[in-house]
Amino acid sequence: MYRHLKKMAVICSILLLVMSVVACSGPTEPEPPEETPPEETPPEEEPALYTPGTYQTEVPGHNAPIKLSVTFSEDEIVSIDIIEHRETEGLADPALKELPERIIQHQSLGVDTMAGATISSVMVINGVADCVDQAGGNSGELRAKAIAVQPGAKIVKTTDVVVVGGGGAGMAAAVSAVENGASVILIEKNAALGGNTLVSGGAWNAANPELSATLDAAAGLDEKLRSYLQMDASELPEDYRPTLSVLKEKITTYLEGDTSKRFDAVELHIIQTYFAGKREALDGTVIEPKFEFVEAMCSQSLDTQEWMKETVGSSFRDTLSEPIGSLWLRSNGPVNKLDDYFVKLAKYITDNGSEIMLETKGESLIVENGRVVGINCTMTDGTPVELRAEKGVVMATGGFGGNTPMVIEYNTYWPTLDPNILTTNVKTATGDGIVMGLDAGAALEGMGFAQMMPIGYADTGFLAFGGGSNVMYITQEGRRFVNEYAERDVISIGAFENGTLFYELKTLGTDPFPPSGTTEDTNVIFIAETLEEMADKLGCDADVLKEEVERYNGFVEAGHDDDFGKTSFTFKVESPYVARAMKPSIHHTMGGLKIDTSTRVLNESGQPIPGFYAAGEVTGGIHAGNRVGGNAIADIFVFGRIAGENAAKGE
Ligand code: ADP
Repeated sequence: MYRHLKKMAVICSILLLVMSVVACSGPTEPEPPEETPPEETPPEEEPALYTPGTYQTEVPGHNAPIKLSVTFSEDEIVSIDIIEHRETEGLADPALKELPERIIQHQSLGVDTMAGATISSVMVINGVADCVDQAGGNSGELRAKAIAVQPGAKIVKTTDVVVVGGGGAGMAAAVSAVENGASVILIEKNAALGGNTLVSGGAWNAANPELSATLDAAAGLDEKLRSYLQMDASELPEDYRPTLSVLKEKITTYLEGDTSKRFDAVELHIIQTYFAGKREALDGTVIEPKFEFVEAMCSQSLDTQEWMKETVGSSFRDTLSEPIGSLWLRSNGPVNKLDDYFVKLAKYITDNGSEIMLETKGESLIVENGRVVGINCTMTDGTPVELRAEKGVVMATGGFGGNTPMVIEYNTYWPTLDPNILTTNVKTATGDGIVMGLDAGAALEGMGFAQMMPIGYADTGFLAFGGGSNVMYITQEGRRFVNEYAERDVISIGAFENGTLFYELKTLGTDPFPPSGTTEDTNVIFIAETLEEMADKLGCDADVLKEEVERYNGFVEAGHDDDFGKTSFTFKVESPYVARAMKPSIHHTMGGLKIDTSTRVLNESGQPIPGFYAAGEVTGGIHAGNRVGGNAIADIFVFGRIAGENAAKGE
């Protein structure tokens, strides 16, 4: 293309020259003596920029290496193919699809990275650069060719409801507002919808007794159920006590019947959520999940799945899983996270005349006469946007787990947090909605409690996915140190007290869903046929490891754990073994904007701020001090739906 441009420039200057000669020549002037024109030398052929062909490379990606190829003509980058990748579907799409198009369009590597997919973007650019060099081009020059982005003129729009954030909570709020007759504009600062919801496992806790009754029970569960029968009501706040009574009745009936299949009840979900969330801060203050929120979340969870099936056509799996710290097998998930939590919802929103604006960041709420009436935003290209909301603004910007300094600043729970601790979060989870809400007079709740994900990969901090029933956790010395089926904070504390880096050890192939860590990766995943070989790989004493595994397998057989009180065992730890190197990493921020059960944002006096709603991880207090694994998705969709409905009604 450059060669073509240069050729054009030469032709133009010849033309200009000819025209100026014509313009200057007057008709009366005597004809100049005829000269033999100098022989025209043809413009010099520019050397080719590339050796034509297709070149391939592999670059590290966000999750795993990205394999790509680039095809060149003599003058141009003709096409870029992403051959293989394991980047997060949806979130990384702009980096894998739009970005290559922009590179080709501008024949430049100086293009901006895609908002929310920075790492994948940088890696794609690096990969193309490598191919440019392989083809004999100059990637340095192409990187230096910056593409100037011009902000557009200010956009002003008016709608009924503005939803800020395109994660699960925002999507549910937008669908629900549309369903309730409102016009909606949903803004998302990234180039793709998804947020942390999309990088999470997507597991959604919803007690479903009928489905549970079709699944085989695990050793140890009866013991756990019996412990509720022993529980004294005085261990619970008054408003929870009737729930405990109903639970006891249901457990008694279950234990009298067929216990080879599983038990579940909304009441068990409520009581487990309460105890998992009741925690003491470093200064001795105690935080507890409030009954009205827990009851709303647990009792409307299954119904909200039904609503999504009916309204937008989402599909859910017909089996259950138990992500780490879920305390029970009750997580139902979507068949396809991207489609069932995002694509189908987005289609419903836009098919019904509402709008989704990507790469549009909410900056500050517009408050008039004490009412939130809109939001000022900036698009990635710098275009200012003013959105006016006649009925309400729903804040659904997620948490601040991608903002480690903010987690550390607010922390009142963890005795120490290393500033270099890794995170499972997308880097754009920076707590914007909390800052905007504070400026608009909102009160905050539970800010000091952030959840550490015990099973973060030790090298990246990414969520390792997996449950607690089929695994044993061992220290670097090979010793078991904690109840693997406990709450996430309990396991993380155990890890911090035992060298931080630990190993999850299990029998290869025993993860029901999703299969995790099946290929050896010498940094973090180790596979071995024997415990001697595994001990060698992990650098621990083989005798210690053998003794610990034998003891643990004895507990699995007995369905009872003498050492740490584990109460759910699905598999023994046997050959072939797989071990994964884990370190707790920041996962979920439980604090945020204070809301009531109608999702109205409250001020410091406990009064709702008119026109202001919030749902999802941006809100605080629902999970109190520690969140049950799988409850976040229940929370965001249940309360997102409520927020959308109430905002649409302006209530
Ligand atoms: P939740 O689980 O509560 O839905 P997520 O993290 O899944 O939270 O989604 C929150 C979404 O909000 C993310 O996609 C994030 O990029 C988006 N977001 C965060 N801050 C802003 C902002 N200032 N303006 C627009 N979108 C935002």
